[in-house]
Amino acid sequence: MRRRMARAPDSGLMTRADAMLIADRIACGTRVPELPEVETTRRGILGPLSGRRITEVVLRRPDLRWPIPGEIGPGLTGEVVLDVRRRAKYLLIDVARGSALIHLGMSGCLRVLPAATAVGAHDHVDFVLDDGKALRFTDPRRFGCLLWQPQGITHPLLAGLGPEPLGDAFDGDYLFARSRGLRAGVKTFLMDQSVVVGVGNIYAAESLHRAGIAPTRAAGRVSRARYGQLADAVREILAHAIQRGGTTLRDFLSPDGAPGYFEQELLVYGRAGEACRRCGGVLRSAQLGQRATVWCPRCQR
Ligand code: ZN
Repeated sequence: MRRRMARAPDSGLMTRADAMLIADRIACGTRVPELPEVETTRRGILGPLSGRRITEVVLRRPDLRWPIPGEIGPGLTGEVVLDVRRRAKYLLIDVARGSALIHLGMSGCLRVLPAATAVGAHDHVDFVLDDGKALRFTDPRRFGCLLWQPQGITHPLLAGLGPEPLGDAFDGDYLFARSRGLRAGVKTFLMDQSVVVGVGNIYAAESLHRAGIAPTRAAGRVSRARYGQLADAVREILAHAIQRGGTTLRDFLSPDGAPGYFEQELLVYGRAGEACRRCGGVLRSAQLGQRATVWCPRCQR
């Protein structure tokens, strides 16, 4: 019984069984998968896929957002899954010949289930495994993709991406160095995938509030020390969301897609006109780079 394999109290860490349970239950089409959900998915499918041989690739349509390349079937069939990695919001399923490159788009999800499970209208791809199960890619809106990256080659979609926010290359010194001379707002800068990957609108807004930096401030005019605070905030908030991705996803799905993150924990996102939880002042909102942005003019300078 997987239900009985609850996580250790207070550890805050997801067990593999937990991750599987969550990956199982992620409802497709209900929210945009952000970095924490993609990482939760990776952790959920890693165990069931690792070391398994892919016996068949079933493509029920020729394309998702883009055509599914002809290399996918021959590349994966008969191969053993060596690893499942994440880069930005892409998942890479590694075999000896290369990697299946998957993006969940606006509404995609991946689940491992018995291969004989009835196929729904939006179940576009199955990787059938040698243990009678299958990795099923479901994507109602079809903004996701399934592409092929040959061994030893970096796919163009992955070239030019900035460092991972939870990796060692991302810190205040890096942000400071990258931002000198830039007039663009610091929030726009933080959401630029060539600067750092996977910091979506919610996480950028929350991190800036925690670091006390106004989203409209020119990126080139934020000090090294404050960038240190911002980098720490980004890391903490994303790591927290990944941890909570486990326990809250089942119970909380916001209408605009902030799963794995308790609504009451959001300090600014979606709270325009409400009181700042820190100072009580009224939160302001504006469109910044086509994205709705909320901040506290008192706490964030
Ligand atoms: Zn405030």
